[in-house]
Amino acid sequence: MGKDQKLVAALENGSVIDHIPTDKLFTIAQLLHLEKFTEPVLIGNNLESKVMGKKGLIKISGKFFTEDEIRKLAVVCPNIRITVIKNYEVVEKREVTLPETLTDIVKCANPVCITNNEPMKTVFYVKDNNILKCRYCGKEQKLNNIKLK
Ligand SMILES: [Zn+2]
Repeated sequence: MGKDQKLVAALENGSVIDHIPTDKLFTIAQLLHLEKFTEPVLIGNNLESKVMGKKGLIKISGKFFTEDEIRKLAVVCPNIRITVIKNYEVVEKREVTLPETLTDIVKCANPVCITNNEPMKTVFYVKDNNILKCRYCGKEQKLNNIKLK
């Protein structure tokens, strides 16, 4: 069996992102710059899911996410699941959840906000119903409509 075929069955070392809503799959692929990876990457969409009906899934050989990458993933796509695999064994499984504050991940939608005009970090408070509120200008924006920094 070639390395690529083995990846379909099992990942030796790497990460699996599961429970991706089908309309977010390619946003995540872009966010992670999967086009730049040289190790095998497997992208599946419209896969059957008992919980979600249909879902997307990404397997990346040799990739282990940093906390910063996981926070970005959570912003684009809350409630995905990340599985870390080493030597064919699952060593970590985590549900990604949105933190209460997002520091320097999202751009403020208000063009005159100080964060868009000074070299500084953005800070957003995550409110109910997936609304983000800028710490500096108070502008609120919906999570599904944000621009990443
Ligand atoms: Zn702002």
